[in-house]
Amino acid sequence: MDKLKEIVVLSGKGGTGKTTIASSLAVLFRNKIIADADVDAANMYILMNPDNIKGGDFAGKPVAKIDSKSCINCGICMDLCRFDAIDIIDGQHNIDQLSCDGCTLCSLGCPEKAIQMEPVMVGKWFSSDTEYGKFVYARLDPGAENSGNLVTMVKHQAKLLAESEKMNYILIDGPPGIGCPVTSTLSGADYTIIVTEPSISGISDLKRIIKLSDHFKVKSGIVINKYDINSDNTKKIEAFANENNIDILGKVPHSFCIIDEISKRTIPVGQCRDLKEPITEIYKKITDYFELQK
Ligand code: SF4
Ligand code: SF4
Repeated sequence: MDKLKEIVVLSGKGGTGKTTIASSLAVLFRNKIIADADVDAANMYILMNPDNIKGGDFAGKPVAKIDSKSCINCGICMDLCRFDAIDIIDGQHNIDQLSCDGCTLCSLGCPEKAIQMEPVMVGKWFSSDTEYGKFVYARLDPGAENSGNLVTMVKHQAKLLAESEKMNYILIDGPPGIGCPVTSTLSGADYTIIVTEPSISGISDLKRIIKLSDHFKVKSGIVINKYDINSDNTKKIEAFANENNIDILGKVPHSFCIIDEISKRTIPVGQCRDLKEPITEIYKKITDYFELQK
């Protein structure tokens, strides 16, 4: 059996067309599990229309909780807390779990052992059926941290599913930027599709992601979205790719059809001819690359 390959779609910032490209590729790829690792702003599920079959809670880092029955209201914990997370409410010491950093100091200092560190559920993950194949995704509560760990959980679930279903690919819609969730997404990946736009900030974001992808020794390819809105910058991206021996996988034009289909919550590749051609080209270049690796 072929080795399972992880393909990650990334972009420098949100709104670059990353999910459009990832969901359109999900229509073309066979023998794959689809995953949305953009857990802070998950939106691929809107296009995938999933039917959830399995899922679970995601626990964030433990935060402190006072057992009011054991607490003698001595105030030591309040003095110890550097995050002003402890207050007195109705004569009883109380911890605001949103302000608690989880440093454990109050728990260690409490003479009555009245403070326990407890995990708080901050998100959910789901495994689902869709028209385009099995899809794993997650949603992190607004403002919750630890998105890197939730990305790892999504990837782990997708991998388990891919192995049990004997799939060849995991196709991942990654988070934007170059932060911790992106490094979690890139870890163990085989190919990074970087979606960029021909703007000054787009070019600088692109270079940063290439650097990160190189650091993880992951092969990169570039998709220029809305390539026709600035031909000078598109040429600069092509020159950069050429100098650095990076494939331009495809160029997608600005298209009202794509905007229209996305607003109707449908994956645009079926309806928009100006997307179908470049997506087919991207699909072919990536599958050819893996064929050559055999
Ligand atoms: S240190 Fe312990 S006993 Fe004292 S106020 Fe805090 S929780 Fe209560
Ligand atoms: S765990 Fe740390 S941050 Fe949280 S309440 Fe205790 S001392 Fe404050």
